Amino acid sequence: MAADPDALSRRSELAAYAAETAACTRCQLASGRTQVVFGAGDPAADLMFVGEAPGFHEDKQGYPFVGQAGKLLDKLLAGIGLTRENVYIANVIKCRPPGNRDPQPDEIEACESHLFKQIELIEPKLIATLGNFATKLLSGKPHGITRVHGHPQETTLGGRAVTLYPIYHPAAALYTPAMLRTLEDDFRRIPGLLAEQSGAPAQVIQFPVAPQAAPPGPTEQLGLF
Ligand code: URA
Repeated sequence: MAADPDALSRRSELAAYAAETAACTRCQLASGRTQVVFGAGDPAADLMFVGEAPGFHEDKQGYPFVGQAGKLLDKLLAGIGLTRENVYIANVIKCRPPGNRDPQPDEIEACESHLFKQIELIEPKLIATLGNFATKLLSGKPHGITRVHGHPQETTLGGRAVTLYPIYHPAAALYTPAMLRTLEDDFRRIPGLLAEQSGAPAQVIQFPVAPQAAPPGPTEQLGLF
């Protein structure tokens, strides 16, 4: 099959922007990082996930969601028939905060245009915001994830209409079975929401995902809901 020229051009524009961002020194996190964790996945994806910030493993490997929370995200994606190659995954903050502390307002402000540029280039139809930081930044509203999860909202980003879909952060759901069930329930609606955008029929979803046994390690990010 011939390559989609639009996807090819987005891939090269996004790669050029990632290369530019790799040298970013807009905030204090630049001095402690191993590398900028720009984002990964399909540059022409209809579905984008936005998390909080890279953790220990993401900082070392240079890819988002490669630790325990990422494994859960992979399982949730598999449950709706997707892999991370079918979606695009990024974070609000592109560099690891020390000790996985919460991103600070000045860091979010310094970094947010990188995320907005990614959204402008990728042109997703649906953005699932994982947890409070992504939800508050992209909705522009102060409402917390506990209140708004599972409720799609229409907004405009990068000059285009997009549906935001706030859901719990997988790291928050890892060790809390009730939250994991809610996250699974919310995830189950993603194919239907995507279908609404494209007019395609929705598919049947396989769940649940088994909860993890171990308590959070020192490098897991908390304070996510
Ligand atoms: N948590 C996030 O929010 N992002 C990652 O990339 C990993 C964990």
